Amino acid sequence: TALVVAMDGPSGSGKSSASRGVARALGLRYLDTGAMYRAITWWMLRHGVDLGDPAAIGARVAEPVLVIGTDPEAPGVTVDGSDVSAEIRTREVTSAVSAVSAVPEVRGRLVGEQRAIIGDGDIVVEGRDIGTVVAPGAPVKVYLTASPEARARRRTAELSGTTVEAQQIEMARRDTLDSTRKADPLVMAADAIELDTTELTLEEVVSEVLRLVKE
Ligand code: C5P
Repeated sequence: TALVVAMDGPSGSGKSSASRGVARALGLRYLDTGAMYRAITWWMLRHGVDLGDPAAIGARVAEPVLVIGTDPEAPGVTVDGSDVSAEIRTREVTSAVSAVSAVPEVRGRLVGEQRAIIGDGDIVVEGRDIGTVVAPGAPVKVYLTASPEARARRRTAELSGTTVEAQQIEMARRDTLDSTRKADPLVMAADAIELDTTELTLEEVVSEVLRLVKE
């Protein structure tokens, strides 16, 4: 039977590296749903949409043409034909994405596209609501966590021009926005296995998930 591995958790929990590692090890596709929310956010910023106005965001959400790759070696994303894989990681997009992802029309569009991409499975899907909303029937659901310090340290290592302290404050802000919004607040699925990665290496996290898949 076709496999879907749902990998949820906050940023800095080691989700992206672990998800790609699991997909690579098992020869599965890989979908980064956060990249889809980021790509829509990039488009909204580019088109001067007022991100303080959820109705304005909802009214234009159908316009951007989004194509997301599912190769764990090179998961690119294009919007209206241009590759925005680097642009969606900027601080500008990161600080705006929670406002955009809270809009029900945005979630409606992207959840539908995510389910279409998942299709018959054989895929590792990373996000925040995969085990709860996008693929509640996924046979394997992992929820990655890590201490706030460890998460901030990992994010700081990926970015330039920021400090662990500043990252910790920014991540706490985004966590609060993501988990308290009205539409689909981000929570752990009741049947997900929680994995605290604070003291684990990437290899250890990947082998623990592979062990869960084999069970
Ligand atoms: O994982 P990443 O940091 O790229 O996610 C960016 C943002 O996209 C999150 O802070 C959240 O607001 C949103 N998101 C979401 N649902 C998902 C994946 C991401 O709301 N499945």
